[in-house]
Amino acid sequence: MRNPDIVIIGSGIGGATIAAGLAGSGASIVILERGERLTPTPQTRDTRSIFVDGYFRPKEMWRDAGGQPFNPGNYYYVGGNSKLYGAVLIRYRKEDFSEMEHFGGVSPAWPFAYEELEPWYSKAEQLFKVRGALGEDPTEPFHSQPYPFAPVPDEAPIARARAELKGLGLHPSSLPLGVDIDVWLAGGRTPWDAFPNTGAGKLDAESASLAAALQDSNIQLVTGATVERLEASPAGKSIDAVHYRRNGEAKFLSPKLVILSAGAINSAAILLRSAPSGLANSSDQVGRNFMNHNSAAMLAIDPRRINDSVYQKTLSLNDYYLSGGKGGRPLGNVQLLGKINGDILRSSVRLAPQFALDYMARHAVDWYLMCEDLPDPESRIMVDGAEIVMQWRRTNMQSLTDLAKVMRENLRACGYPIVLSRPFDKRTPSHQCGTVRMGNDPVTAPLDPWCRTFDHQNLFVVDGGFLPNSAAVNPALSIAAQALRVADHIRSTDLAS
Ligand SMILES: Cc1cc2nc3c(=O)[nH]c(=O)nc-3n(C[C@H](O)[C@H](O)[C@H](O)COP(=O)(O)OP(=O)(O)OC[C@H]3O[C@@H](n4cnc5c(N)ncnc54)[C@H](O)[C@@H]3O)c2cc1C
Repeated sequence: MRNPDIVIIGSGIGGATIAAGLAGSGASIVILERGERLTPTPQTRDTRSIFVDGYFRPKEMWRDAGGQPFNPGNYYYVGGNSKLYGAVLIRYRKEDFSEMEHFGGVSPAWPFAYEELEPWYSKAEQLFKVRGALGEDPTEPFHSQPYPFAPVPDEAPIARARAELKGLGLHPSSLPLGVDIDVWLAGGRTPWDAFPNTGAGKLDAESASLAAALQDSNIQLVTGATVERLEASPAGKSIDAVHYRRNGEAKFLSPKLVILSAGAINSAAILLRSAPSGLANSSDQVGRNFMNHNSAAMLAIDPRRINDSVYQKTLSLNDYYLSGGKGGRPLGNVQLLGKINGDILRSSVRLAPQFALDYMARHAVDWYLMCEDLPDPESRIMVDGAEIVMQWRRTNMQSLTDLAKVMRENLRACGYPIVLSRPFDKRTPSHQCGTVRMGNDPVTAPLDPWCRTFDHQNLFVVDGGFLPNSAAVNPALSIAAQALRVADHIRSTDLAS
């Protein structure tokens, strides 16, 4: 293969979206993706295969800080983790770009304000055809463009839940979603959250960004290509080669520009494996500050009512996002989960009889509580040869405890006599971020505000790793918006030519 102008490593939200942003620039681009495209199979809409058998999980083991091996919920397909995502495409709140005092410490500021990223949030919403409504959520920041489509409709039990929460004086709002609900349901009457997308029902990194990028014949996707390391020039100022393995064969490319978008955990791992003390790591921050929201599932159960929703996931509640904790501390976001059933419950409650799980699921409205995890240098991704070691130090757990308490009271007041909650499994790094953060100071951050490494002039890192804080909302739209902003920066500065 001839050396292209740009190599992008990974076709997830970061990689595929920056490729879409660079389409039409005239640069020749190769995307190296370790996974293959997901295609429809009997398992793609089967809850037991997905949640109990872990059919789509990688055949890979990581280790936790105690040395315990685990199989991570980190997905390697064309489109990356977004193939299974809940398609909630929500902006960080304006306040998330400034320092914010939490129970567990201070959430750091971004190196720029919300207003700087806003135009690209709008572009990302257009690219992902986001369904949403303005004017319902008091924490919603300024939008220069309305959502391109009206919200996904609430099903009847959820319309009732919306009215009940409003009755308490709260402000439930329509979740912004990258879902074409008619197309999704035509493929099977299931929820979409954590279900693999093999068509156009979910707008994900493959069906939205990559599809747009591949309209440009200068952009080529190479699947089954696992990048092992980057090679720096002898003086160390730039990247000379990207080394990867395909069909067992070692290969390399030497582009002018390298964009590393392998996901927050794998991008850090690739940098750490590339040199004795890691590439792009003069700050010693690569792999550190690993964050992944503090979250819990909450089931509001009323034995007198049946929740016959198919997808359920259309409501969000941000009344406790900016305050609500003791001393006015922020708590977090509340949103619906995809509708659970007995099989899905079985994946976390192994011992209960199936009929009890089915009964509980049929009578429950299922919520997802999400609180900010703060950066801690000792919360880190490390490598041990080919293996990944995930030492996740949770922070700020008081927010989750308090959010669960206030929501339990609210849901009881709405008429659900039984409210159960359970924190999410530590081994699922769904909202991984922070491991190659951006900032203004090379002493404390590997990346500048354009996601370019301070140490190597032709290396960018564009994925969840760049996020300086985790906020308390889903990360994908913020990653996509910054990817489009960085693409425009690269175009305007002719870095690849
Ligand atoms: C079940 C689930 C539900 C979620 N729901 C939501 C949601 O509703 N809203 C939201 O905002 N976020 C959600 N997320 C999180 C969201 O999917 C991620 O934040 C987002 O996809 C991250 O994009 P990324 O580009 O940083 O990384 P990834 O998606 O991890 O993409 C990295 C890509 O790089 C490839 N890769 C990795 N290593 C290599 C290598 N060595 N060589 C070559 N290629 C490599 C991977 O295969 C992958 O394609 C969810 C995640 C999960 C798992």
